[in-house]
Amino acid sequence: MNKFGKIRALLIDIDDTITRLKLDHHEAKNNGNWTGSLFEVLQSAGVKLGGLTTKDTERRIEKIKTQVPWWHWSDYIVELGLDPKQFWDYAYEVESEYLEATGPEIRSALTRLRDHGILLYVTSNNPNDGILHKLRVAGLANSQGAPFFSQLLGVSGLHAMKWEATYWKKALAHIALAPKEVAVVGDGFRDDYEVPHSVGLAGSFLVNRFEDLSARNTDTLIHVRDFDQIADHLLADRRKPALGKTGSRLRA
Ligand SMILES: [Mg+2]
Repeated sequence: MNKFGKIRALLIDIDDTITRLKLDHHEAKNNGNWTGSLFEVLQSAGVKLGGLTTKDTERRIEKIKTQVPWWHWSDYIVELGLDPKQFWDYAYEVESEYLEATGPEIRSALTRLRDHGILLYVTSNNPNDGILHKLRVAGLANSQGAPFFSQLLGVSGLHAMKWEATYWKKALAHIALAPKEVAVVGDGFRDDYEVPHSVGLAGSFLVNRFEDLSARNTDTLIHVRDFDQIADHLLADRRKPALGKTGSRLRA
C-alpha cells in the first residue's frame, strides 16, 4: 500500500531544507570566529540600534541564555530594549547577505500542494520567531506572519528538540492529525526521518539538491532533488484514478 496516499499534512524543516548559507560564506563559517547566527545580529543590534556598550549587550544576552529555558528571540529583543520592527528589519538586511532560499521552486511547489488541500507546517529546532525570520529571508513570510503555513512548530513552544520522539508526538498534538496522515520534509536522516518514523509518521521526503539518491528509496523514505518532486509525488498519486480512465499520464 502507498504510505503517502493518505497524507493530509507536511511537516517541513527549515535549516538546509528551505534556507541555507550561501555558498561563498561557507569558508567564513568554517574559519570559526563567525557563526552566521542571530546571536551575532543581536550583539551588533544592541550596540548599533540599542545604544548599549558591547559589554552590556553581552551581559544581557548571556542573562537570557542562562536564565530563560526555551527562549524566543523576543526575550533578547526585550532584554536589550530594542524596537522590535527595527530589529527584525535589521536582522533581515544582515542575514539576507549570507542566507538564501535553497531553490527557486519552493514557493510554486508549496502553492500547488496547498491548492490541493495539503496542510503545511514548519518544524525546526529554532523558536517560532526565528522560523518566521528565516521564512521571510526565503520570501515565504513577512515580519507579521507566514500565511502559507498553518502553524510554526518551533522547539521553544514544544519544549523538545527534533531529535527527541516527544517533539513529534507534541507536533501531532498541536495539529490534531493522526500520524499516518502526516509526512515529513527535511534534509537530515535522523531528525527528519528516523525519529518521526519511530513515532508512526507515514514517511519522509529527504531533499538533496546535489545528489540523486532515489535508488535508495523505500516505501516510507523518498529521496528528492527539490520541492517540485515532492508535489509531483503526492499529487500524481491523488490523480491516479481519474487519469486511469484516459489511459494517459502526464508524468511517469
Ligand atoms: Mg535541516
